[in-house]
Amino acid sequence: MKVDPDFLDTLRLGGEFNARQCINCGTCTALCPLGMEIMPRKLFRYALLGNKEAVLKSTEPIYSCLLCKMCEANCPGGVHIAENVRALRSYLNAEVLEV
Ligand code: SF4
Ligand code: SF4
Repeated sequence: MKVDPDFLDTLRLGGEFNARQCINCGTCTALCPLGMEIMPRKLFRYALLGNKEAVLKSTEPIYSCLLCKMCEANCPGGVHIAENVRALRSYLNAEVLEV
């Protein structure tokens, strides 16, 4: 795994990204109506670890998020999950779609 130590700073160019507050409890993944095991806990872990490659391979879950905030309303870490997903989308838009 190639690590990008500046990845969080890059993500923050697309908006707020406060995933450092995540305590990896799994509540969000359990509550998400999409039922994707990766959402959103693993996505945030990839970002925190600087694992850019894993984020780039996660276009489907990142663009599938409904931004319903069901996860966010129950997050014990106070993570702004929907805003974080938006930041991930902005990053993908720039890197993959080049818009
Ligand atoms: S519910 Fe919040 S603290 Fe728990 S894993 Fe999800 S983002 Fe992290
Ligand atoms: S905001 Fe996205 S990740 Fe959170 S519960 Fe809704 S669809 Fe799932």
